[in-house]
Amino acid sequence: MNDKETSLRSLPAVDSLLAMPKVATLVKDWGKKCVTQAARTAIEKARAAILKDGATTPENWPEIIVKVIALDQEPTIRHVINLSGVVSHTNLGRARLAEEAVVAAAAAGASNVNLEYSLENGGRGERDTLVENLIVRLTGAEAATVVNNNAAAVLLALNTLAFGKKTIVSRGELIEIGGSFRLPEIMEKSGCHLAEVGTTNRTHLADYEKAIGPDTALVLRAHTSNFRVVGFTTKPELTELAVLCHQQGIPLMDDLGSGALIDLGDLGLPSEPTVEETISQGADIVTFSGDKLLGGPQAGIIAGRREYIDRIRGNPLKRALRPDKMILAALEATLRLYICPEVAAQHIPTLRHLSRPMVEVRRMAERAAAIIRGHFKLEAEVTVIDDICRAGSGALPEVDIPSASVAILHRKMNPNQLAAWFRGRRTPIIGRVERDLFRLDMRTMDEPERELDTGGWGDK
Ligand SMILES: *Cc1c(COP(=O)(O)O)cnc(C)c1O
Repeated sequence: MNDKETSLRSLPAVDSLLAMPKVATLVKDWGKKCVTQAARTAIEKARAAILKDGATTPENWPEIIVKVIALDQEPTIRHVINLSGVVSHTNLGRARLAEEAVVAAAAAGASNVNLEYSLENGGRGERDTLVENLIVRLTGAEAATVVNNNAAAVLLALNTLAFGKKTIVSRGELIEIGGSFRLPEIMEKSGCHLAEVGTTNRTHLADYEKAIGPDTALVLRAHTSNFRVVGFTTKPELTELAVLCHQQGIPLMDDLGSGALIDLGDLGLPSEPTVEETISQGADIVTFSGDKLLGGPQAGIIAGRREYIDRIRGNPLKRALRPDKMILAALEATLRLYICPEVAAQHIPTLRHLSRPMVEVRRMAERAAAIIRGHFKLEAEVTVIDDICRAGSGALPEVDIPSASVAILHRKMNPNQLAAWFRGRRTPIIGRVERDLFRLDMRTMDEPERELDTGGWGDK
């Protein structure tokens, strides 16, 4: 008999592993099914190692079984450090919530709440009213409702207001947002008929006027979130379009995308139309995201005239698109911060990061550079460079925001290998390679000593 056969023969049976005192203790914590499965997996792994590598039969079975169980409990949704140069990165889960929103969401998750229950009379309540008053107060709208995300908000509004009828959109605004949101396709799925007007670069008020007919249900404006058309361009002012629509008795909807609640100009950024301005200029329905510039949880907010909001709320699809209690709690907490805009600008990470002064960003970069130098020592050249970053998720398109990055040149790894190395940390660090240089953008860095925890830089 050769060594392999001896090793295979000495592999224990599942039952004999379960009879070991240490394994029996595991059963108390994890239950019989889980530990039996883990024991089986441990034996299978040992068998494979013997056959493939000529390994010997392991002795420390309880420890191996503990590891198998632990591996099963490891989350696949992992915390990553976003130093990508995109402040609100859709692929990295967009907004980091304000502490107040985190606490509110966790509390709502852990307890029962008055989600659809009136604490006044013990009867049924309406989940929308929980945040409606706040949205109304912050936007000047008559009423508001909340769904899962802004794509759902657009779908629901179109389906309610224009099903089987014509919706007029400028050819310059037939947008595609990342992740397969294409306005013409959403319109088709909502059951309304798209009537395109104007051209890619120029659409006049008269184009809208000519297109409006008896079967027109809606005029839709969409924020060209992720691109800009420059040069020979024109489009009517929102106020002009609103006057035209109201003369014809047709509602005007504006899909704002980002939906700033405060003037970004006050934060030293280029201005975006705020929801309040859009409504005061005559839009009857405004849709926007909860997790873009607003900096809250993923949600789609529909604000506007009460008669339309009531119809939207009554649509059976609303039930399929509604948010849960944790989202509503996080949204409420985020919106409450906006009552005091200066507090919102400091407490909401998206706003704080976008508006930070350059001296602070550079200071972060210096601190981070020192830590990274300390780790790589002579293996890498680590410098602080002036850089530019983007707001991301379709906000402030093509606007360069000044920033500072830590740039790393490694003697043994090329920039892409370096990017992969940082992604491979226990807490993955997401940077970017630009012009042959690996960079970690510091506009979104809060605490280098904690976030760049080199003690946790072992392989995962
Ligand atoms: C981002 C965006 C959407 C989609 O919003 P989500 O919250 O990602 O669903 C729709 N319209 C516009 C104009 C956008 O910018």
